[in-house]
Amino acid sequence: PPPRPMMTPEKSLKYRVKHTILIMSGKGGVGKSTVAANLAVALAGKNLNVGLLDADINGPDDPKMLGIENEKVYGDEKGIIPAKTKYNVDVISMGLIIPRETAVIWRGSLRHKAIQQFLEDVIWDGKDILVVDLPPGTGDEPLSICQLIPNADGIVIVITPQDVALNDAVKAIDFASKVKIPVIGLIENMSGFICPHCGKETDIFKSGGGKKLAEQYNINFLGKIPIIPEIVEDSDKGIPAAAENEFARKFFDDVAENIIK
Ligand code: ADP
Repeated sequence: PPPRPMMTPEKSLKYRVKHTILIMSGKGGVGKSTVAANLAVALAGKNLNVGLLDADINGPDDPKMLGIENEKVYGDEKGIIPAKTKYNVDVISMGLIIPRETAVIWRGSLRHKAIQQFLEDVIWDGKDILVVDLPPGTGDEPLSICQLIPNADGIVIVITPQDVALNDAVKAIDFASKVKIPVIGLIENMSGFICPHCGKETDIFKSGGGKKLAEQYNINFLGKIPIIPEIVEDSDKGIPAAAENEFARKFFDDVAENIIK
């Protein structure tokens, strides 16, 4: 096929979406997708028109977490119509295009083109915020996606307390400075466990390192999300904790509030 033309101004997100934020992590498994999906829900709860772009082509978990894994997306002459959730978040994800069990064995350039289409051809027009859930880590793929969105407002870095010790969090901060996109701030996920019976907090993976790290690098600390066992179960059922779990909601709400600030 002929090469795809460069993004034309009308296709550029800059003219169609008020704000774009990228959610990244230094490595997989820290809860980046969980935070991205729940944050999108929390932002929508603040009367914002929110889109969620799942840029993780190999592990597209966002549709499942938002209860739309059996939906499919369609297009018309104007573009691709993102899937709607009952949480007022519109979603595009590879998981809405091919069956979830199918491994997407695509080379980088093909994955890059898919993301480019998710950015340019999806009808995001009028969104207040587009939340982009980046693939995990600081490798080639998140890098090439960031280059597709040079005007993004900023990057939100999700870490777990043990990453601080392992320097994965520092790598993510370094990545953001290399792609020249401002860091909006850090979120410490799986930060301690608050006993639902007695209210006592236990630092299973330690906690507080994110805040210290943020101070050290002079970036905002956006808040922490404790280990909440219901998050695992609810995510699997397609129920975002930020909408349905009162205890979890306040943490996601606080983070959303700090991002809007
Ligand atoms: P990533 O996108 O970084 O690979 P996921 O969002 O898929 O990570 O989360 C990994 C696992 O951890 C999932 O099973 C998810 O439900 C769980 N999880 C994430 N955050 C929390 C939390 N705060 N409390 C409990 N479980 C969590």
